[in-house]
Order: sequence, then structure tokens, then C-alpha cells
Amino acid sequence: MTVLRSGSASDVGLVRSSNQDLALATSSLFAVADGMGGHAGGEVASRLAIEELSAAFGRQPTGSGLAEAVTSANAMVWAHSQENADLRGMGTTLTAVALVDEGGRDVLALVNVGDSRSYRYHDGELTQITNDHSLAEEMVLNGELTPAEAAFHPHRHILTRALGVSPDVKVDVWRIRPIRGDRFLLCSDGLTNELGNNQLIEVLSTVADPQAAADLFVRAARTHGGSDNITAVVVDVIVGEEDTRSIPAVMAVSPEFVDPTGVASNGVAELQPLAVPEIRIPNRRERRKAKRRERRRDRGRRLITLRTLLFVILFVAIVGAGYFSVRWYNTNSYFVGLNGNELVIYQGRIGGFLWYHPVEAQRTGVTTADVGPTYLPALQSGVEESTIGNARTYVKNLVSDYRSTHSPPSMLPPASSTTTTTAPGAGAGGT
Ligand code: MN
Repeated sequence: MTVLRSGSASDVGLVRSSNQDLALATSSLFAVADGMGGHAGGEVASRLAIEELSAAFGRQPTGSGLAEAVTSANAMVWAHSQENADLRGMGTTLTAVALVDEGGRDVLALVNVGDSRSYRYHDGELTQITNDHSLAEEMVLNGELTPAEAAFHPHRHILTRALGVSPDVKVDVWRIRPIRGDRFLLCSDGLTNELGNNQLIEVLSTVADPQAAADLFVRAARTHGGSDNITAVVVDVIVGEEDTRSIPAVMAVSPEFVDPTGVASNGVAELQPLAVPEIRIPNRRERRKAKRRERRRDRGRRLITLRTLLFVILFVAIVGAGYFSVRWYNTNSYFVGLNGNELVIYQGRIGGFLWYHPVEAQRTGVTTADVGPTYLPALQSGVEESTIGNARTYVKNLVSDYRSTHSPPSMLPPASSTTTTTAPGAGAGGT
């Protein structure tokens, strides 16, 4: 037999104008919902969720019944948000624990969607059972953040999962042995944002009455700032199992916690021990350090991705453009010059440009004796041509120009005499 005793408290806090949190504490079902959404959306969402959870669980008070109750609570909130334009986009977190009978054995079924939390206080140790469905927590799971950094990450309030924001919802489920003396704390983020683990432990270890403990949690969170709605439900196992360490107390049946080798039957996977990471909430100094480190990293990351990258691209572009311009300027020009007394076509600029020196593109076989002396000064300093073809034409023209004007007198007689003089010889040779 298991006997539970509970206490609950919820408060608007010191900053918000309305309380969108809602707590539930019956004899066997305990829950915390933290609503969100404009207008009255947040309040409506948490109220609808708790009411439907309670009603659906009442119809089927089992472990799987609790998980299904969360699913129908999701459908309820979703349906209302679709029907009412004012409520569109509303949603809520929901964490709940219920005492159920499974095969004649008392079990505590625990469910969670969102970033409200359920803790187990056992033997002086506080363990967070639920995982926050927040961006920051996912970064922790991916190894991008330490739990200490996540506690103060700017993205810690951005939820990756919530109830009522889509037709379907994925529910995390655990089964826990009700061990005598264990205390469970269900709370909204308004409590855990204000109080660290040590402060939670302080209350749980000193205030025996669950209602007094819940009240003290709320008062302490208000004292520490109360920047959000604050809700706490404390559930004590007054009569329960004895602590036997050979059997793990917390077991997960949620798909994502199931060992892939675990055999699933009739939709419920085999029970698996849950590895719950120890989360230590940092003190004020560590918090400031983590924040500074985070800011630095953010700044650094932005620099690398934007400014530095742009600068590198620009730098490479400018250097590249310069290099290719110089290269183009040098290789796309030719000139005719002299190497000794031979005319040579060079590729490049006369006298060179920057690191480029003219190179021999073609030796012409033409010497200074083949061209007019008037061209020699020009050839000595070099005559630019845009292409190698133009350079060849230039040399050819120099040669033919010089021949036409300075060719020695023809040794041949006039055309008429040619015929007469060769004819007898040819005729003589032919006969
Ligand atoms: Mn909240």
C-alpha cells in the first residue's frame, strides 16, 4: 500500500500581471501547468490542460492512462486554439505524477511536456527527473552547453515542445517506485529560475510538511525576484516501498529513453533504468562568469561568420583581381626588339612591368641588315604590338618595304629580250 501527502502553492510573482500557472493536487494526481499565449491564452491553456488531464486520467487511472490523458489534454488545448482567434497560438507546459496500480503493484507514473520540472528528493539528494524541452537543454544534450551555462542561457525560455500548439504531442513518461520518505517536487520555471538546487534542498530537508514546503518555495522565489509566475507542488511518500538499491527507483518508458535493444510489446517498451544527469546550479559568481563567456563567444562567433569572412573574401578578391590584371597586362602585349642584330618578338611590356619580364616569343631570323636603317632606333627601344600576329606582320612589312625600295638592280634583261635570248639557247638545247 502507498500513502501520499501533498501540498501546493501558486503565485503571480512580482512582475507579471496575471498568473498563467496552474497547480493540481488530488489524492492520486498531481500536476503543474505553465500557460503561454497572448490575451487570456496562457491562463486558458493551463486550465484546459489540467481539467482535461484530470478528467481523462479519472476515466483510465493507469500509467498508460496518464500518458493518454496528456495526449487528450493536448487535443483539447489545440482544438480551442483553432476555434478561437483570440486564443490562437496558446499552449502550456505540463508535468504530472500519478499513483497508479500496475499488476497489483503501486507505481508512480510521471509525465512531462515543456520546461516545468519534476524532481525527486531521496536520501538528501535532489535529482531532476524531467528534461526541459527548451532550446538551451537541447544544446546541453548536444554537448554545446554545460548545464551551468544552460541555466542562464538566453534561449532557456524558448520551448522545443509544448502542449496544445500542434495536433500531436510527444510525451516523456517515467515509472517510479514509491519509496517511503521520498519527496517529489513539481514546479514551473518561475521557481527554478529564482532558486538554485541548494535552496530547493534546503527547503525539502528542513520543512517536513508538504504544504508548508510549497508555501515556502513560493515565498523564497518572490524574495529572489519573482520575475515569473511561481508554482510548486510537493508530494511526499508517507507509506511506500522500502529502499532497495538493487532495483532502480526511476524507470523510463518514454520512447526516447528506451534502450534500442529493449523489446517493445503491446506498445509499451520494456522498462529501462533512466540515467538522470546531476545538474548543479551555479552560484552567483559562476553565473556571471558563464554569462561573460557566453557573450564573448557570441561576439567571437559573429565576428568570424560575418565580418572576418567578408574581409577575407574581399581581400582575396582584391589580391586576385590585382594579380590577374597584372598578368593580363603583361601577357597580352608583344613588342619587336633586337637581340644582337636579330629582330625578336617579345611577349610582355617593354622594360618589363612589376615582377614580369619580357620573354622571347619568337626569333624571326630577320637581321638589321634586312630592314631599313631608319627603323633601327625604334627597334632598339622596342615597337609594341597588341598580338603576336601583328608583330609578325610588322616584321614582314619592314623586310618587304626595304626590299622594294633598296633591292639591287635586276640582273635580268627586259621581258622581250628574255624571250629572244633564251629562245635560241632553248631551241639549240632542244634540237
Ligand atoms: Mn513560467
